[in-house]
Amino acid sequence: MTSRRTYLDFNASAPLRAEAREAMLAALDLCGNPSSVHAEGRQARAVVDDAREAVAALVNADPSEVVFTSGATEANSWALSAPWQQIAVSGIEHDSVRAPAAKVAAERGAPTIDLPVSGDGAADFRSAAVDNGALVVLQLANNETGVLQDVKAAGLWAIENGARVHTDAVQAPGRVAIDFKTLGASTMSLSAHKIGGPKGIGALVIGAGVAVSPLLTGGGQERRRRAGTENVAAIAGFGAAARAAQRDLAEMDRVAELRDQLEAEVLRLTPDAIIVGKAAPRLANTSCIALPGQHAETLVIKFDLAGVAISAGSACSSGKVAASHVLTAMGFAPEVASSAIRVSIGASTTEQDIAAFLAAWKAMSGNRQLAA
Ligand code: PMP
Repeated sequence: MTSRRTYLDFNASAPLRAEAREAMLAALDLCGNPSSVHAEGRQARAVVDDAREAVAALVNADPSEVVFTSGATEANSWALSAPWQQIAVSGIEHDSVRAPAAKVAAERGAPTIDLPVSGDGAADFRSAAVDNGALVVLQLANNETGVLQDVKAAGLWAIENGARVHTDAVQAPGRVAIDFKTLGASTMSLSAHKIGGPKGIGALVIGAGVAVSPLLTGGGQERRRRAGTENVAAIAGFGAAARAAQRDLAEMDRVAELRDQLEAEVLRLTPDAIIVGKAAPRLANTSCIALPGQHAETLVIKFDLAGVAISAGSACSSGKVAASHVLTAMGFAPEVASSAIRVSIGASTTEQDIAAFLAAWKAMSGNRQLAA
């Protein structure tokens, strides 16, 4: 058993950044409620406002457009909860999009529009016959493959067709530049723990002039858009992580080099491995590797025993032995879709981390554990 651990599962949750921990510890000692008018309340309010500015700056939104939520799951559920005539969604979306879309469809008795997905992982929003009152849901970057969608083109297309776009941008900040002002999406979900902030805090960015009625009602927090006393410490951590994530963008070329190095060596050792989305525009930090005939869950356990943390498809669905719904939607056969592992790294990943992964992979392929 190796004592040194190598963490290569940033898309499931990125390590907490020192800046975020520091900001959270300081905020925990603020006793005031941000809605209170006294000095203690105003101090807590200032922390929330400062974090809102940092999160807005990361995605080039106006601070007034950022509404803090308990995470991206809440933000996605909220964005989809409006009385849409129809929702167009593809099979590559996260379960926190697919499940509320199915719920809305069941409640309204109108099936969701199922957008086809190419073998490269691009959802074909143009194929949807949408009209006024429809919502097109398109993620910015996929959590399993890193493949990027052309949300901007979808936004322009939606305007022409009288529809709106919601984008789940959870995996993108700090990895690609995001400009909410020109993106063309009405709403956008974010999550702090994917950028080195704490778990259980996120945001729905709501474009100016876009009416979204609250999911949670009660107090008048978040300009009456999301009731409930703000999680001040978590929000402070989100803000600090957002500032740091912005600096990560400069590291993405180096991160892509590490990813390419890993993929090249995997293909050299196991030529029958498939790098999913390799030819598509994708995030620099994500590698989805399928080994037809293998069971992804078994590989994850073997890597874990070798001291390396990776995922089988999305972490949210691990524990269930099921083929990745993302790869299935991309048209991969079940024996490929159930064999895919995900390696996801970040700006703090080193050559030594990649070497640890490759050493484990080599040991498995050397003793034929990886033979298809
Ligand atoms: N969307 C995507 C693409 C994700 O990867 C995740 C987290 N796995 C979520 C939404 C849900 O985010 P949260 O954990 O903040 O609820």
